[in-house]
Amino acid sequence: MQIGVIAIQGNIREHEDAILRALRIEKREAEVVRIKHKGIVPACDALIIPGGESTTIGLLLEREGIASEIRTAAQSGIPIMGTCAGMVLLAKNGDDQVRKTGQPLLGLMDATVNRNAFGRQKESFEHLIDFKGLDLPFNAVFIRAPCITSYGKDVEILSQYTGRIVSARQKNLLTLAFHPELTKDIRIHQYFLKMLR
Ligand code: GLN
Repeated sequence: MQIGVIAIQGNIREHEDAILRALRIEKREAEVVRIKHKGIVPACDALIIPGGESTTIGLLLEREGIASEIRTAAQSGIPIMGTCAGMVLLAKNGDDQVRKTGQPLLGLMDATVNRNAFGRQKESFEHLIDFKGLDLPFNAVFIRAPCITSYGKDVEILSQYTGRIVSARQKNLLTLAFHPELTKDIRIHQYFLKMLR
């Protein structure tokens, strides 16, 4: 089994560490690989898209030919987790800012996102939030976080903060506005592994 981490920007190593720890706890085996070029995604059984700058990541995914591979992989049903910029990229639609710049999205989750719903970098913060499927609240780290503003019938809301949707699932797709890789708590990476049959 192979789990790919899109390695263009963001907390790549932190996601690798978290998923490796989750694998150990869940007593499962998988190789974790970095994806910088096309040709690797088709061999992956699950994918993680870290945060960063969704504009840059989106452009590079298209330019490198990785975006179309991710779309095909998503259609085949493999679990994909997108955090922060990853939430923006997985969405079908964006807010005015996204539309104006025409930044490329993967367009997989039937949802519209507000790209910078929680303000700029200095508005980064942490908060305990309830997450559907976890018994105890999760300490969520928000950094220039997006949120989901509207969504289709196949989208299940997993958590909200101040009335805004900050994580959701649509079948094999899991999106989070916050950064689960930046805390020691790996329950969300464990949740993701359980999406992997
Ligand atoms: N709001 C940022 C964007 O759209 C994402 C921020 C992050 O990933 N920390 O690119």
